[in-house]
Amino acid sequence: MNDVQVISLGCRLNLAESVHIRSMLAGEDVVVVNSCAVTAEAVRQTRQAIRRARRERPDARLLVTGCAAEVERASLSQMPEVDGLVANATKLDARAWNVAERPAAPSVTHTRAFIAVQNGCDHACTFCVIPQGRGPSRSLSVAQVLREVERHLEHGAAEVVLTGVDVTSWGHDLPDAPRLGQLVHTVLDAFPRLLRLRLSSVDGVEIDPLLFDLLAHEPRVMPHLHLSMQHGHDLVLKRMKRRHSRSQAVELVQRLKALRPDVAVGADLIAGFPTESAEHHAANRSIIAELEIVHLHVFPYSPRPGTPAARMPQVDKATIKARAADLRADAVAIRDNWLQSLVGKPLEVLTEGDGHGYAPQFARIALPAGSRRGDIVTVTPTTASQGLLQ
Ligand code: SF4
Repeated sequence: MNDVQVISLGCRLNLAESVHIRSMLAGEDVVVVNSCAVTAEAVRQTRQAIRRARRERPDARLLVTGCAAEVERASLSQMPEVDGLVANATKLDARAWNVAERPAAPSVTHTRAFIAVQNGCDHACTFCVIPQGRGPSRSLSVAQVLREVERHLEHGAAEVVLTGVDVTSWGHDLPDAPRLGQLVHTVLDAFPRLLRLRLSSVDGVEIDPLLFDLLAHEPRVMPHLHLSMQHGHDLVLKRMKRRHSRSQAVELVQRLKALRPDVAVGADLIAGFPTESAEHHAANRSIIAELEIVHLHVFPYSPRPGTPAARMPQVDKATIKARAADLRADAVAIRDNWLQSLVGKPLEVLTEGDGHGYAPQFARIALPAGSRRGDIVTVTPTTASQGLLQ
């Protein structure tokens, strides 16, 4: 096999970038590991992916990019399997790969297209290495975003997901500092045939009034709010250097649900952050029910090199593991109740082609055989079990 293979780890931003890398390197005998360094586990998986790729493609050029290529540069470059590292900031530039520039064409595989409108981060949360891995925050221009949306729609995407590292900071570095709400409005205006626009993880306190209004009232903006919440206790949020409080998140969700009751809430929560007590953990658990979080991503805390949190008194590994399990169990109960509440309700489902699809609230639903990928079909589920509607 003499073609490019891109192994994408970590976030949706990496996924979106991997689509670009794949088309830039089409025809090259190269394996790219687009790595992640958000947790120690992510770095372990990066190493594992590198070793596996070398076993499977012994003769191909093996190159590593992504956040681990920044944060773990020294140790990754010493791995015998690795032929080279490509800086995260230049990975979308063909010259960084020593190949001729050519127009990147999406590989037409996704019904949902991830569009990275923003990269990097100017914040300094005490547990996070992403600013080290991705640099300062920077935005695609409106024209660039519109070109990306058009390219994906032309290649069969039925839904667009706007993503980034800190997507609500989109525009701060552009003339007149437009806000994310304006971008969403402009995209929907420019593409009447785009029926579904979804937002990836957002910082609740950075949602601008127009964006809130679109989330609350615009049917083409999916009723799905994924919050970069991180914790449910104010003292821990302060030690994380987060910019929001528990009550601000609660107030935001209540205001949104009052206007759009079917909105589904997702969130990222960290379990076992340094100095986290049993009382802090209890608050982390109770925020799941209070916000009715039905899409929960749990991150067991792991110290990251060079971060302030790594120098704080650590919680022991067994406790971190147990607390992460608590959060996951709480979320399953909330999610199952929510899925049950969708039984008997007609849902507009985007067909994924693997016998499943997603409702606007991002509920996963089994579809009859032969459902065509990319179609939006109306389905009324009759049962819900194990996280799936049928
Ligand atoms: S906002 Fe905080 S958690 Fe998110 S990427 Fe920036 S520093 Fe990391």
